[in-house]
Amino acid sequence: MDEFRFELALCSHLESETETIVARQLGGAVARPGARVVDIVVLQPGDQFDMRARLSPNAVPTSAIESDVGAGQAVPRRDVLDGSSHARRVVETAVEAGYFQIERRDGREWVRATARYPEGWYDRLTAIENKPDLAKPGDLERQLTHDVTVGLFDEVVMATNSHVTRAHLNRIPDAVGVWQFDPETGERTVVRDPSPLPVDEPGVEPVDRRPLRTDVAIVGPEEKRRRRLTIAERAYGKGWRPKADAYPECTHVEATEDCRPYCSQFDRVVDPGTDCGTDCPAFERESTPTIDPEAARAERSPWIRDPPGALHRQVGLDRFG
Ligand code: SF4
Repeated sequence: MDEFRFELALCSHLESETETIVARQLGGAVARPGARVVDIVVLQPGDQFDMRARLSPNAVPTSAIESDVGAGQAVPRRDVLDGSSHARRVVETAVEAGYFQIERRDGREWVRATARYPEGWYDRLTAIENKPDLAKPGDLERQLTHDVTVGLFDEVVMATNSHVTRAHLNRIPDAVGVWQFDPETGERTVVRDPSPLPVDEPGVEPVDRRPLRTDVAIVGPEEKRRRRLTIAERAYGKGWRPKADAYPECTHVEATEDCRPYCSQFDRVVDPGTDCGTDCPAFERESTPTIDPEAARAERSPWIRDPPGALHRQVGLDRFG
């Protein structure tokens, strides 16, 4: 069982078992955001989750959330953030997400938020590192140590299909929880619970490793808070299912009930990015079947695909476009 299939099976299992938002492959560092990519993030909804879900099905940029633009606070478009090209992209993304709307007044464009951004819409973020086969640990120890010392997630778990021995546990930081998961049966055994990490305290992030020397950055609580908001937004917008356009134009591809890419020729879940394409000996071209990962996501998770408020706002936006 390769890591991709293990990961998708675990995502589907977690989604079916809990009322959470499950997403894959999100940046999990602060000082060097691209330096650590977390396999799975599980977001536990908070009190105001429904309000967030009604706001937009997409990720809202953190800079837009933290800008001067508010529900009762229209700001001239050119003054939003620092007016740079980056700021313009942030405004466009927030408009596409339905969080910002553009109004025209006195020959000028003004930006206003469509609703108050809810505080505390998520309660907890869990990072899961998958290592289906512990005989091939790769960078596991370094990755988990990174996650524990930074303390960006409320808890960290390592998931494996292997039998977990005491020797394995001794090599994994004490705060990391351990799950044994069988992707074929969906059976999950908690070998060890994770300990809560101090997300409100400074963390230590390794930023450069050389022989005999590791450079670190101290990341403060405010940087961590901001990064956590970005991760929560991306998790909400992204989810875990491969997008429809990732499926190959192959007659043998279909989707499982929970919308994982499945090959009828090889009788297994496939990774379209590595298993499929014209290099595959069994590839037979045909237009891609209709696959709707978002419908499966809306049906099986608390994510809302078309929040009524967002639809209404989009109509309003067209009027000003
Ligand atoms: S490209 Fe190959 S692996 Fe992918 S669906 Fe077609 S036959 Fe299956």
